[in-house]
Amino acid sequence: MSFNAKNEKMNFWEEFTDEHKAGIKRAIEVAEMNTSGEIRVHLENSCKTDLFDRAADIFAKLEMHKTKLRNGILFYVAVNDRKFAIIGDVGINQKVPTGFWDETMEAVLNYFRMNQIPEGLMEGIRMAGEQLKEQFPYEMGDVDELTNEISYGSREDEI
Ligand code: CA
Ligand code: CA
Repeated sequence: MSFNAKNEKMNFWEEFTDEHKAGIKRAIEVAEMNTSGEIRVHLENSCKTDLFDRAADIFAKLEMHKTKLRNGILFYVAVNDRKFAIIGDVGINQKVPTGFWDETMEAVLNYFRMNQIPEGLMEGIRMAGEQLKEQFPYEMGDVDELTNEISYGSREDEI
């Protein structure tokens, strides 16, 4: 999904603080207390190819398909190109209806349109945790299969 924001000139990376980073990581930790689903965030500047191809490539590169229940979820954002995708692994897609992420997408995009990318991600992550609670409940002894750290691509514009 592409999104437009009011201030196109904003330099995301300059505005992206340690508090934002910690907030996103914390949001993932909290969401993963609700669900066995494993959430990751990937941020980069540009996406010059098809958005979903790119997001799927990152999903594979981060080895997110290696969770036991195949329930990894990737929040992908190309900040400069204003592109955003949520990708869930096959375990999730088998269990949830089409359009499962629509509500989450829309909530996140509402923040993004106001240039509030970290805040949008935190809200989306929170919602993903809530939504996955039923299909993939947290169980005692849950293993943190995928790191909660943000993954970064290039901050330069490149192909
Ligand atoms: Ca887990
Ligand atoms: Ca995790």
